[in-house]
Amino acid sequence: MVRKATRPLVFLFTLLALLVFSGCRSSNRIPWPAATERTYRGFRVVEEPGLSPQTVQDTLDRAADWRTEIEAAFFPAAAGHTIGLVIYATAQSYRSNAHFHLDTLAHYERAENRIHITLKAPSGTWRHELAHALLEQVRANSPYWLHEGLAFLVMESDLRGSLACSSRPVVRLPAMLYPGLSALRAREQLNTTAIFDADQQTIYGSEALLVSAYFTLFLWKRQLLGDTLRRYQQEPGSSFDMLMVGSNLTARAALIADFEAWVRATDPAAAVPGC
Ligand SMILES: [Zn+2]
Repeated sequence: MVRKATRPLVFLFTLLALLVFSGCRSSNRIPWPAATERTYRGFRVVEEPGLSPQTVQDTLDRAADWRTEIEAAFFPAAAGHTIGLVIYATAQSYRSNAHFHLDTLAHYERAENRIHITLKAPSGTWRHELAHALLEQVRANSPYWLHEGLAFLVMESDLRGSLACSSRPVVRLPAMLYPGLSALRAREQLNTTAIFDADQQTIYGSEALLVSAYFTLFLWKRQLLGDTLRRYQQEPGSSFDMLMVGSNLTARAALIADFEAWVRATDPAAAVPGC
């Protein structure tokens, strides 16, 4: 049986797959054997031969600035870590190397610690993949829901400001998520708890991705995100969804109930101050 909401959600997830995070199939997949890797402003860079050096330089400088912003807000422990970048000239050359089922614009390859991306990918795409890479620097093998929630949160947000909450940056989710939220709200159940254990297939093949993004925004709104992230980075072995409620399952259930009430009532395009 096909539910009414299935069709718009399928469309949504096709869009979201443009930003996929890859956690398996490790291999060193630089497609230009003659290209040499160089280091620049915290990145190990390999680029497709023939690209304009000036355009590459400008893009790397912008990427370094975005990284600084995201790192300062959420991942200070990633400072000094080097992140790999494989830069493709065109979407076509990228796709010839990225073996996904759906067309993609970029991905972070966890096993290589490399972002694969086209030179002219939009800023939101760069920021999304940088968030994956930075989270992986500070806590390897973090859960998929946290990876995607943070990656969507940083795409179009202004994170400059202080996480001490006195000077509050404002975050918002990208517009591509708004129709999905409307469809999701028509459901009787949101199954928020299921996101915490969702594997790669579940995250990308279902609404768990959307729930993860809005749940992360909710944590930000409740001023739980920054502080929990800091402790999550300081305490190896801790579980994020337990840390955020002091390991109290009753408190976690109450937080989720609050989230589900909020997500049904909130404007999908809401911009939220928080920390
Ligand atoms: Zn992603």
